[in-house]
Amino acid sequence: ASTYPKSNALYAEAKQYLPGGNTRTTVFEKPFPLYASHGKGCHVWDVDGNRRIDCINNYTSLIHGHAHPGIHQAVLKQMERGTCFGMPTESEISLARELVRRLDSVDTVRFTNSGTEAVMMAIKAARAYTGRPKIAKVEGAYHGSYDPAEISLDPGPQQWGGNTPNPVPYAKGTPASVIEDVIVLPFNDPDKAKELISLHGRDLAAILIDPLPNRAGLIPASDAFLGAIRETADAVGALVIFDEVISFRLSHGGAQALFSISPDLTTLGKVIGGGFPVGAVGGRRDVMAVFDPSSGKPALPHGGTFSANPVTMQAGCAALEYLDEQAFSHLDRIGGEVRHAANEALKRHGVPGVVVGMGSLLKIHFTDRAPANYRAVYPTPAETSKLRIFNRTLIENGILPSGYGLMALSTAMAADDIHQINAAIDLAIRAVKNQEPL
Ligand code: PMP
Repeated sequence: ASTYPKSNALYAEAKQYLPGGNTRTTVFEKPFPLYASHGKGCHVWDVDGNRRIDCINNYTSLIHGHAHPGIHQAVLKQMERGTCFGMPTESEISLARELVRRLDSVDTVRFTNSGTEAVMMAIKAARAYTGRPKIAKVEGAYHGSYDPAEISLDPGPQQWGGNTPNPVPYAKGTPASVIEDVIVLPFNDPDKAKELISLHGRDLAAILIDPLPNRAGLIPASDAFLGAIRETADAVGALVIFDEVISFRLSHGGAQALFSISPDLTTLGKVIGGGFPVGAVGGRRDVMAVFDPSSGKPALPHGGTFSANPVTMQAGCAALEYLDEQAFSHLDRIGGEVRHAANEALKRHGVPGVVVGMGSLLKIHFTDRAPANYRAVYPTPAETSKLRIFNRTLIENGILPSGYGLMALSTAMAADDIHQINAAIDLAIRAVKNQEPL
């Protein structure tokens, strides 16, 4: 605590006004979180003056790092003209056009203020389109805070049930009716997916799936699993929703350009807002027509005071302008380098573990089990304490990771930065080997 007096003092004050001193569980740390002061490029400073390379980038939302000059200019220009209106603006057309251009399966788009809302609207759209109540989702996958999307986010082994996963509520107070309306699929098990989707087929509006689900382990969905989902969804008349809130950052055409099937609806967020609050749902024209108000009250009315506000839209347009093929090849290269260096360091130090991921996303698991699905990478208490040592050592050595071992790289990182990240990872793995106390 003595090393971070300002963060410590801010947290003491925060406790008076915010429950537990916190307004975002994701960034809570014991005994207190480090408070951010400012960021520039790939660096972020805490209020006690320590500079770190930002490897979390506001949980994957900043793909160009902090205060990118081009995005900054676009936002300033909009701020001079007003920040939000009770009227549509041209900027929403520009960002929608760019998303439609990039995503093969997307014909039209609706904007929201967060990924949570995007997933909520996608689920509601699927229900409105099919007239059915249920969704299926993958065990351990995170999709924001809408009730059905939260089911089975983090069940521990005692709640798993057999190889047909139990739908486990995430939040206390989740209504039984919500739990009944969610079918939980074991990740990367094509036969089970077919069986469960067929069994619940006539009630199933959609299968919600992130092809590279971060919280379920950042393990890619297999072609066989996705193929089984697409085929069975079509057979029963359910929609497939890809949650690309994070995984859109994998390529110019999003995650769907890299995986074997095409979804009916896609949810987006994070990078498409250029560092401002955002979400979007897009997809097939006939499905998206549930939102269309041009012939009277739509099947699915949707508003949102700040939806498609022009500050977010302009920031998003600028961020995507700089996110070209060259940017993606840079991100793929540096992501590959860090994954490789980290896996080599694990071997060199004889620490059981594996670093998984794709493109600019990577995640470390301190396990010798094959990283096949959520259950396989579910950490034991000993593995959790290794991750804590790893994270703490990174933070003490100039790197900001996320609490769950996820890292998201940015275009602002150059060769030197990658070198520093790799050196800190090496130190952190060595600290895990020596079980250095926190
Ligand atoms: N879906 C996925 C895959 C996410 O990772 C997140 C947020 N991390 C969300 C949805 C929810 O997005 P938001 O935090 O913007 O509500």
